Amino acid sequence: MSDAADTERASAHTILRAAAGILDSDGGREFVTDPWWALDEHGTIVELGRGPLAGRDEILTRDLGRSLVLPGMVNAHSHAFQRSIRGRTHRRGAHDPSSFWSWRTQMYEAANSLTPSRLYDVTKACFREMLRAGITCVGEFHYVHHDVDGAPYDDANLLSKQIIAAADEVGIRLVLLEVLYLASGFGAPPLAEQRRFCDRDVGAFLARCEDLLPARGDALSLGLAPHSVRAVPIHALEEVARFAADHDLVVHAHVSEQVAENQACVAAHGTSPVALLEQAGLLRRPGTFTAVHAIHVDDADRARLRGHHVCACPTTEADLGDGTLMGSALQAAGVQLAFGSDSNSVIDLITEARSLELHERLATQRRLRLATEARPLSMALLDAATSGGARSLGVPHLGRLAVGTPFDAAVFDLDHPTLDDVHEDDLLDALMLSGSCAPVRDVFISGAECL
Ligand SMILES: [Zn+2]
Repeated sequence: MSDAADTERASAHTILRAAAGILDSDGGREFVTDPWWALDEHGTIVELGRGPLAGRDEILTRDLGRSLVLPGMVNAHSHAFQRSIRGRTHRRGAHDPSSFWSWRTQMYEAANSLTPSRLYDVTKACFREMLRAGITCVGEFHYVHHDVDGAPYDDANLLSKQIIAAADEVGIRLVLLEVLYLASGFGAPPLAEQRRFCDRDVGAFLARCEDLLPARGDALSLGLAPHSVRAVPIHALEEVARFAADHDLVVHAHVSEQVAENQACVAAHGTSPVALLEQAGLLRRPGTFTAVHAIHVDDADRARLRGHHVCACPTTEADLGDGTLMGSALQAAGVQLAFGSDSNSVIDLITEARSLELHERLATQRRLRLATEARPLSMALLDAATSGGARSLGVPHLGRLAVGTPFDAAVFDLDHPTLDDVHEDDLLDALMLSGSCAPVRDVFISGAECL
């Protein structure tokens, strides 16, 4: 044994063991039986392995019993307040014919009814449900910034701080994706119902972001989010790209969710939304940009996104009738996948993962769309729900159970009716392709139990 291993072993504080789980290393990700993870007093993994723990009796051992331990899931795209219209948009009525745009009208009504304390409460309820679903980090794409008439509060970041406080209260890690919103469409001023999303100009937005930078810490990161090409003019996109590069921030944007957005972009600029984002410089830094949705993209757009990320939100995309995201084509083009609960109509990243695969099966009449020679299907889906989301959010140390990373984990009960009597070789496939987050029994963040 090397001196370095001696030092690590000496610092181990707790050992957690389970019936099955994930071990990550530089060599890749493995699903194993009888795994264990040794943590230091801060909950960081200092050693891991599988099999008997002979000679380790001096260290406190916590046996998680008949459970499957996965890395804590990373939700790369959420609008927490939209959870408040859950169940409210499925009846015919004043907003017919129902479409994405009529749903948006109902969503705007909710956005304009928020007070600071109501935003805190709905966000807290939403983040609690996420934690219960095994999500340990969320990227909140936050765009309700100002009072209903558009006037900034005395503290222009008051509502962003409600999101931060809600995450802190729940104990979930947060990547606050501060949204820039300036227009209702190409060259069109904001609608009355969009005023509270809008900063005066890009300078005012970046000043708010600058003020938020010092708040970053272990549980809070920051990213920039120009809402979409229809809401942010190209000169402002260029300034966002410069600020993000200067401060080493990731950038997320809604991209090609609706055909109408593509058509308007072509009419205004003669190019697709992805090409416009490339022109603005947002694709220049490898791996720093996430296109949320990217449903209506072609091969040229997919090639432009190579090395970057696409966040798929299949339950929301199905709910809103957006279209079918072709994950396999993105994967083949070298685009990394992540998942988001988006409207929070459903909060379950296992359901998101399975839906991405199944929607594509329905569209193509083929199976195993996201499996490759190198990576089985269930592992591809798990990667996107964990490490893929973490890389998209600029926190690549999360979403993994490797030496040097915090023990953020979701513990699934193998005695749950959906997993009971499944052969151990089939557990991961059964969970990802037939299961849900319902069997989540415990959740850990930095080695501390959260439920
Ligand atoms: Zn969204």
